[in-house]
Amino acid sequence: MSDPRSTALLIGGDWRAAESDARFPVLNPATGEQLCTVANASVADGLLALTAADQAFASWRSTTPRERSDVLRTAHQLLLERTDEFALLITQEMGKPLTEARGEVSYAADYLRWFSEEASRIAGRFMHDEHGAGQILTRLEPVGPCLLVTPWNFPLAMGSRKVAPALAAGCTCVVKPAEQTPLTMLAFGRLLIDAGVPAGVVNVIPTTSAPEVMAPLIADPRARKLSFTGSTEVGRALIRQGADQVLRMSMELGGNAPFLVLEGADLDAAIDGAMLAKLRNGGQACTSANRFHVHESLAEDFAALLAERMSELVVGSGSEPNVEIGPLIDPIQLEKVAALVDDAVARGAQLLTGGHVLDRAGWFYTPTVLLDPPADSRLRSEEIFGPVAPVTRFTDDSEAIAAANGTPYGLAAYVFAGNNDHALTVASAIEAGMVGINRGVISAAAAPFGGAKSSGFGREGGSEGIAEYLETKYFALP
Ligand code: NAP
Repeated sequence: MSDPRSTALLIGGDWRAAESDARFPVLNPATGEQLCTVANASVADGLLALTAADQAFASWRSTTPRERSDVLRTAHQLLLERTDEFALLITQEMGKPLTEARGEVSYAADYLRWFSEEASRIAGRFMHDEHGAGQILTRLEPVGPCLLVTPWNFPLAMGSRKVAPALAAGCTCVVKPAEQTPLTMLAFGRLLIDAGVPAGVVNVIPTTSAPEVMAPLIADPRARKLSFTGSTEVGRALIRQGADQVLRMSMELGGNAPFLVLEGADLDAAIDGAMLAKLRNGGQACTSANRFHVHESLAEDFAALLAERMSELVVGSGSEPNVEIGPLIDPIQLEKVAALVDDAVARGAQLLTGGHVLDRAGWFYTPTVLLDPPADSRLRSEEIFGPVAPVTRFTDDSEAIAAANGTPYGLAAYVFAGNNDHALTVASAIEAGMVGINRGVISAAAAPFGGAKSSGFGREGGSEGIAEYLETKYFALP
């Protein structure tokens, strides 16, 4: 961290210390050791950042779509050039293995390229009034300064998939990264400035006082949009706070993804899909398969094969070669995962592999497979966010669909079947924003990512992603 910009606040194009020079430590979850300290934004710093975003809005919104597109395209190129630097930062502060961190960089860069293309395609429409009373012209305008709040699990990609469409639409922003992973977002802020993003258009304010710093910004009429990715619990609180000024919002919240293996599914394909859907980011993804519902004809074989594959995984520090599963983000998450497994075992689940904390520095949990956790096990209804796979059996599709939908969440789901008709019939009945069909990975910049029910509203990526940052204005013409 020799470059002082990497640990300062980015406000109005300046790299600044926090008010009263407050700083907070960033830890490496693979060792528990401190990596460095970062400026800790106060309420006053937050308001300064919003002022900067507000002042920069008038000129940024009046740039041409092609200018904004070119800046984002340059950022895409720079990010690819800096892949190793970003991957190392992500691994150091978040823990995922370096190969996965490189994958996150490439995924994050996809959003910059995708929205550089969308920037030049913002279109309104024209039509005649149906009664001949006049003409209808619509134009899409940027909503204004945006508040973007991101989680720690994909510290770069969750940021780029908000910042890129906001900038493409002509909005400015204040980004509040998660307390555990501020370094990646600060480096991203620097990259955007290097790419030609003008001062004040993107501001980054790490803080350990998220509720205190964000509440006045959410209440401030200069902020026109809040895009939040994080837990449903915090999302609910922010929706309530934003109601006072009827703040426009996108909410990417928690999940409890079911993974269905239907009768007749190819077992090997289902296992390959399960490994991806469960273990991306060590299970710390909102799209992670949280529970496996497997047809009774396949359940025992599925669980045994999954346990075999998961027991072979190399667990360790993400910067070590060949490591496939890194640490959990912090001791709280480690304790939570261990408690969920212990609870299921105490209630009668069979432990096929794993089930313990690793005896080493850092916050590691062994990849775990449980067969038949009873219905009242906490992990049947709670988001696990760790490398733990509970497998239960069903006898017919209607039982599987009822189990899949028996949750307040509705983000991702996975269906593995022997043929597309069968898969699509079941997938159509699942209450989720996204369904992977015979595929264990669903995220893509070109696809609309988002949830239903308590998993939130709004979409990121695809053509839907930029619409979240645009307001429709209608001109009534004679
Ligand atoms: P979290 O505790 O809700 O935190 C998310 C972000 O919100 C962090 O930046 C956090 O700051 C901030 N925050 C917390 N309380 C706040 C408040 N009162 N006002 C304003 N900001 C506040 O979630 P997390 O544990 O970091 O992330 C895991 C959750 O995110 C999981 O539930 C996961 O499913 C969900 N997620 C959803 C998606 C999706 O697209 N649907 C994607 C990834 C993750 P601090 O870090 O300072 O607390």
